[in-house]
Amino acid sequence: MNSRLYGNLIFELSKPGRQGYSLPRNRFGDYSVPAELRRSRDAELPECDEMTVVRHYTNLSGNNFGVDNGFYPLGSCTMKYNPKVNEEMAALPEFQQLHPLQPEQTTKGARGVVAMLERMLCAITGLAHFTFKPYAGAHGELTGLMVIDNYHRSRGDGQRKKVLIPDSAHGTNPASAAVCGLEVVEVKSLANGQVDLADLQRIISECGPQVAAMMMTNPNTLGIFECRIPEITRLVHDCGGLMYYDGANLNPMLGACRPGDMGFDVMHINLHKTFSTPHGGGGPGSGPVGVREGLQQFFPVVSPYYGNFSVLVKACAYIMSLGREHVKEVGPLATLNANYIKESLKDVYELPIEGLCKHEFVFDGLKDKQTGVTTMDVAKRLLDYGYHAPTIYFPLLFHESLMIEPTENESKETLDAFICVMRKIAEEACNEPELVKSAPHNTPIGRVDDVLAAKHPVVTYRQLMNE
Ligand SMILES: *Cc1c(COP(=O)(O)O)cnc(C)c1O
Repeated sequence: MNSRLYGNLIFELSKPGRQGYSLPRNRFGDYSVPAELRRSRDAELPECDEMTVVRHYTNLSGNNFGVDNGFYPLGSCTMKYNPKVNEEMAALPEFQQLHPLQPEQTTKGARGVVAMLERMLCAITGLAHFTFKPYAGAHGELTGLMVIDNYHRSRGDGQRKKVLIPDSAHGTNPASAAVCGLEVVEVKSLANGQVDLADLQRIISECGPQVAAMMMTNPNTLGIFECRIPEITRLVHDCGGLMYYDGANLNPMLGACRPGDMGFDVMHINLHKTFSTPHGGGGPGSGPVGVREGLQQFFPVVSPYYGNFSVLVKACAYIMSLGREHVKEVGPLATLNANYIKESLKDVYELPIEGLCKHEFVFDGLKDKQTGVTTMDVAKRLLDYGYHAPTIYFPLLFHESLMIEPTENESKETLDAFICVMRKIAEEACNEPELVKSAPHNTPIGRVDDVLAAKHPVVTYRQLMNE
């Protein structure tokens, strides 16, 4: 790519008097704009010819990386295949041109989609009712916790303010509890990655009557299936608390088991993770919340209308295209892919928790710690090879967490190519550690100072060419 074009602002490509279009001669005579509305000087707009503009933005867009460019093994925040037919459905003018204030009798079809999706999600989860208002997973958590809080208050049990959350949980769980005005109590994990029942028992014996809920993710964020859910559910219900299921990891459970059957009372689903909506850069998302029968009257109003409607259409299209029987294949394939990568790399990357994982797993950095090459370095080096980095330094249980989720829809060739590169990086870490430590080398921007970039972002741009 032309390096002069790359990275410049469109303003730097501007040449006085250059034009990308011309208007026809005015046929209507002069219309004079009142003086007080007129600019005192010309707007500062770039002056470029059409090809320069087209190439500039096309080249910039090529610096983006998404699932349509290559493998995206991000764990926990699952980026997966988004069948293009879903986009076509969501883009149908009958859906896209809906206005939220349209008369109700003209939106029957759209409401039918929402009702159909609700029926499908109830069948998948074993819960009785869903609200589609929340815009993302974290928003769903807040909504669900508000349901729980409303429920306890309605029974005059307003002193229940503690939410039990395993230490392996996604950071949004404690954050949502805090936003909801509840108090977080951390539950420890065992060495096998599962909730420590003894610690849970201790907590409940200390503060049972104040327990509002326990939030669980299953499989948890280590990709480990929590086998002791029935006992956990019994302990929490017996002390009067409700069970909240963080459904962001629903993929491997689809059609195999249902949170409702496991005793969960409230849950959210990340439609944008499990049911195929591309969600790079923070949106769009949808975090519908499901409840068991009898809790639906506690749904709070957290957003207007029906939430992110186009995401609902895509989820609906995705589930319908799989159908009841094929939805069951998602879990086993996601699990197979994750275990295949894990087993193919565990001789060179540190695997802290042995055994079968579900849809994702966590390495604790490279096995050979002598090299000084960190998880950050491995992630940066992957960019050089054209891969999006996995999730790094999460979960917090390990120092060098490297969390990989291949998703169900990747081919064996893709997985093999990724494994090959991961092994190559492990080799480089031994033979040429500096190469890995100073990566990336092939990206438009090299290694940035992450802390400085986050704490003191420079959001203005110095025009280099004019100086
Ligand atoms: C992604 C995720 C969330 C939060 O969902 P957002 O849509 O990003 O707000 C919560 N819990 C788990 C386990 C997740 O993976």
